[in-house]
Amino acid sequence: MALGRPSMIPDRVPTVREMLASGDRTFSFEFFPPKTDEGERNLWRAIRELEALSPTFVSVTYGAGGSTRDRTVGVVERIAHSTTLTPVAHFTAVDHSVRELRHLIGRFADAGVRNILAVRGDPPGDPMGEWLRHPEGVLYAEDLVRLIRQSGDFCVGVAAFPYKHPRSTSIESDTDYFVRKCRAGADYAITQMFFRAEDYLRLRDRVAAKGCDTPIIPGLMPVTQMSTIARSEQLSGAPFPDDVAKRFEAVAHDPVAVRRLGIEHAAELSQTLLNEGAPGLHFITFNKSSATREVFQRIQPVPAKAG
Ligand code: FAD
Repeated sequence: MALGRPSMIPDRVPTVREMLASGDRTFSFEFFPPKTDEGERNLWRAIRELEALSPTFVSVTYGAGGSTRDRTVGVVERIAHSTTLTPVAHFTAVDHSVRELRHLIGRFADAGVRNILAVRGDPPGDPMGEWLRHPEGVLYAEDLVRLIRQSGDFCVGVAAFPYKHPRSTSIESDTDYFVRKCRAGADYAITQMFFRAEDYLRLRDRVAAKGCDTPIIPGLMPVTQMSTIARSEQLSGAPFPDDVAKRFEAVAHDPVAVRRLGIEHAAELSQTLLNEGAPGLHFITFNKSSATREVFQRIQPVPAKAG
């Protein structure tokens, strides 16, 4: 740590790229910026509880609309300054001019944040509504990746979609545009949530078949109640797999059994993915720590990957 620096930011915060290159599997947790004081307290409780697990990094999503966005930047800055965690700032292109995007990238740099997840974002209100580019903004995540790369020494992540992005016309075009985004300078990707290992493995194979070896970290969300299933469909735009849904429907009358199955299922899925060589696991927490901690505690360590 630099002498006289009144924060916990080490001189050089590790990047996700460096952590992946070490061969160790990454474990990371995703939070969202809360809108209320109570939400803020819950978020910080979850962050402190999960900090004890020493995750490789934690990420904070970027909302639509001005005040949510300021909160994202505030939460990321506070994680960087007052915890031992490495923050990854999600960042979207929605409603931003290139000038604003550059200003925000500069704020992240000033806070010592070197890791940014570049996603295009969805139109506020209706995620499938028309995507209107800001007149002085960028059009695709690929452009955002380039902009961040040009702006300094950042490590840039992007989004990947095991069931294809809902706007993509085919799996083929989805894969091609994903690979373009990686070639524009992405260091790694995190997937949209999914619930069967084979869906991740197919994505990985499709990308590898195009000659692209960007590490793809699975994004996971434990099902803790039956409503999580509908929520996952809403958030990902992809149907929940029938075979997995049947397992949950069999215990749907018993909320305790649903939660238990959800933890078991997420732990099994995590273990399979690690055994199949996934470079890490990224858990969507909804700012709650208990389900994620329970899943995490059931996972057996696996050897580091060859570098
Ligand atoms: P892009 O890569 O730009 O792709 C969007 C669509 O355009 C796809 O169909 C793609 O195939 C197509 N496309 C890409 N390039 C081209 C091209 N050159 N020509 C033609 N078509 C092209 N949203 C938020 O608002 N805040 C967040 O914090 C956030 N975090 C996320 C984190 C993860 C891990 C994931 C998986 C998603 C996240 N999202 C977030 C959602 C994301 O913003 C939306 O899914 C968005 O619609 C797509 O983002 P993208 O970065 O994949 O876009």
